[in-house]
Amino acid sequence: MTIESGTTRTSEHPSQAEERQGFEEIDILWISEGMSCDGDTVSMTASSQPAIEDLVLGLIPGLPKVNLHNKVLSPTSGGEEFLAPFRKAAAGEAGNPFILVVEGSIPNQNIIEGDGYWTSFGNDEEMGEPLTLNWWLDNLAHRAWAVVAAGTCATYGGIHAMAGNPTGCMGLADYLGWDFRSQGALPIVNVPGCPIQPENFMETLTWVLYHAAGAAPPPPLDRMLRPQWLFGKTVHEGCDRAAYYEQGDFAKDYNSPKCQVKVGCWGPVVNCNVPKRGWMSGVGGCPNVGGICIGCTMPGFPDAFMPFMDEPTGGSLSSILIRPYGAFIRRLRGITNIAVNQEPKWHHNRPELTSGYAPRWRP
Ligand code: SF4
Ligand code: SF4
Repeated sequence: MTIESGTTRTSEHPSQAEERQGFEEIDILWISEGMSCDGDTVSMTASSQPAIEDLVLGLIPGLPKVNLHNKVLSPTSGGEEFLAPFRKAAAGEAGNPFILVVEGSIPNQNIIEGDGYWTSFGNDEEMGEPLTLNWWLDNLAHRAWAVVAAGTCATYGGIHAMAGNPTGCMGLADYLGWDFRSQGALPIVNVPGCPIQPENFMETLTWVLYHAAGAAPPPPLDRMLRPQWLFGKTVHEGCDRAAYYEQGDFAKDYNSPKCQVKVGCWGPVVNCNVPKRGWMSGVGGCPNVGGICIGCTMPGFPDAFMPFMDEPTGGSLSSILIRPYGAFIRRLRGITNIAVNQEPKWHHNRPELTSGYAPRWRP
């Protein structure tokens, strides 16, 4: 079963992108000062198709020259030197068009009584007070050629936005509005995952950059603004344990190679390609290698999936229903398996040929 989701047809909106010839140089302003662990930045460095180095060094044909400003990977000495392009862009003085990448969820500053801030990025140059992430978003997002949310916290709020949190934090589309359009007439591009699967993110960024180069249409997004080609299928549809599920053969503990739905796997209802794709170069993953899917890419994560190690309610019903069919089919397949696990009787070394070879019809 594929979970259907609508398409946001970006071409319906008047697009500067369609009128221009493409940019030759572009900045990526990456802010991970949301409620964030920087895990998406770290994860992104594990991509090899393409690698961030390939992007920055201009090794991918047809892309604009990319200037990456990410604090973990910055060659600057930090501080004001690192902040300079962000300050310029926020003042409307950016030298190049830029893509704003946001990592981490967006706290609600409006619930703070009096002074204070949940999270900040640099200080106000005159007042010396911390500049909140919210201030940066208010000053950068509408100036950005494209806005990309990296990770489930930035896309949908994520773990930091779980029930009981004190910051009232949220995803970028909750903050900017789901109908937000960037200077490039693009909606927010959401790449969820906790963390992002490395190549999922780099592929999406590369698509956006090809679009910026005038060489590709906008990336196709679903109604939750996810790239369709990455999040259009469920974990279950790409899990190599699904044959166990279909045969009603379920793991009873975490050491089993069988389907893990009864020990907490949410794969059948989660949009994610990780078991199909692997984590790094096809190695690793989640349920395919023994870790239950906890739905970390989903807008309802984590509250809708907790407690993680309990059997999902729907999983209980479907696994009960499939049991009689699965047991019957498994038995039949077992019988056939024994039959096809034997060589034919004419494979022998005796002095007569018993293969049925009959050359008499030949002229
Ligand atoms: S382990 Fe999870 S994703 Fe894999 S087949 Fe079982 S329920 Fe589906
Ligand atoms: S398979 Fe599940 S737990 Fe693993 S990355 Fe995808 S959504 Fe997250």
